[in-house]
Amino acid sequence: MKKLLLVALLILFCVSYLKAQPGKTEIAKWQYDRNGAVSITWDDGSINQFKIALPILNQLNIKSTFFIITGQIPGSQYHARFIGRPIKNIIAETANTPTNKDNFYERASAAGHLGLIGTLDYHYKAGSLIDDNQPEAAYKVIDELYSKVRHGDFKPGVEHNTEYNDAHGTTWDQIKRYAAEGHEFSSHMVTHPRLAALDEANMLYEAEKSRLDMLHNLGINYTFSAEGPFGTENERAVAYLSKVYPALRNRMPEPWLKEISRSDKDTPGNTDKEYVQYQRGATTQTPLPMMKAWVDTTIARHDTWLVLTHHGVEGIGWEALPATELTNYFTYIKSHDDKLWIATFGDVTKYMRERKSANIITDNQNGKLVITVSHPLDKRFYNLPLTLKTYLPLGWQKAEITQNGHIVKAEPMSDDNGSYLLYQAKTNVPLVITKL
Ligand SMILES: [Zn+2]
Repeated sequence: MKKLLLVALLILFCVSYLKAQPGKTEIAKWQYDRNGAVSITWDDGSINQFKIALPILNQLNIKSTFFIITGQIPGSQYHARFIGRPIKNIIAETANTPTNKDNFYERASAAGHLGLIGTLDYHYKAGSLIDDNQPEAAYKVIDELYSKVRHGDFKPGVEHNTEYNDAHGTTWDQIKRYAAEGHEFSSHMVTHPRLAALDEANMLYEAEKSRLDMLHNLGINYTFSAEGPFGTENERAVAYLSKVYPALRNRMPEPWLKEISRSDKDTPGNTDKEYVQYQRGATTQTPLPMMKAWVDTTIARHDTWLVLTHHGVEGIGWEALPATELTNYFTYIKSHDDKLWIATFGDVTKYMRERKSANIITDNQNGKLVITVSHPLDKRFYNLPLTLKTYLPLGWQKAEITQNGHIVKAEPMSDDNGSYLLYQAKTNVPLVITKL
């Protein structure tokens, strides 16, 4: 009986020790210990995103993410082209060999580069069918295309897709200026193709060459993320993109993340995952109260990252929303920034990954706490400060934190587990906490 009592006391002691955990450091789930995160993202770089939406964002001091089509920007090194065998050989073969799984990707890749007006549409139709898992129907589309090509049904000329044309008018100098204002720029490929329909050479050209133009014009920070056009979730396309970019908006298959794509009717709901990526894209049919409800849901939960996917603005681009509605919506989001971490797609990705892979070491040296938060991720990208909560040891009323010899601003807070300091800290650099 005495032994049992001792065990019981020991358990009680352990539980209360773990609860208080003086000196223990935790990483807040979201930066600044907010309830949730919101990223405003833009696809296609259509011209009014910069002329109209960007000034609205700047007025509200919101940093957002633009997925841009690099091939259409003047001064880019890489433009629309077909990588592969002479096109006339490919066309000639279509007369005798019907399209099948072995020749489809080459033919569908070439479809947009035949030097004829009206063939690019067939590339998109075929790619959309592959995205919908209907390969046989896609082969028929390609057969129909090349039959018309062989019969001379198309006029010669060069054509570009709508997204490519709508993006016309932005220069690298302007993009550099917007980037310097804090906005993230990411790749939306060289020409905005249907990646699911491309062969390996053309898929890699689109992914790697757009990355190179981002790198040369903006630097390595802007090669972190990408979005394969049309939100493709085609596994083959996503696998190729993942070799080139650390993060994709299309898919983020982390074991701790529940993904809800923008076409998915699902809501964050109940989940055993630690984080939810809740993608929503407003069209002209989406009522503003519904758009605001996505924000409210994010605030009410503690695990949700709302990723908004915008396209057209004020008449230019796909499903263009009026400036008045965007102003109203972004003002609403900003009015909740005491509860929401509003940040770029890249920064939220980095924060979650740094936090999930971090190792915290606490040393008690002569009454000082020395804390190191380290992670094994690529330091060229993963250098975002984390928000830390350090519970003060018993008897400590006040403390000062330094990192690299500089004083770190800390907010004294308390919860059920005791008093703690809330502060921003760089990873992989020791922090010293001294009792005052
Ligand atoms: Zn797009």
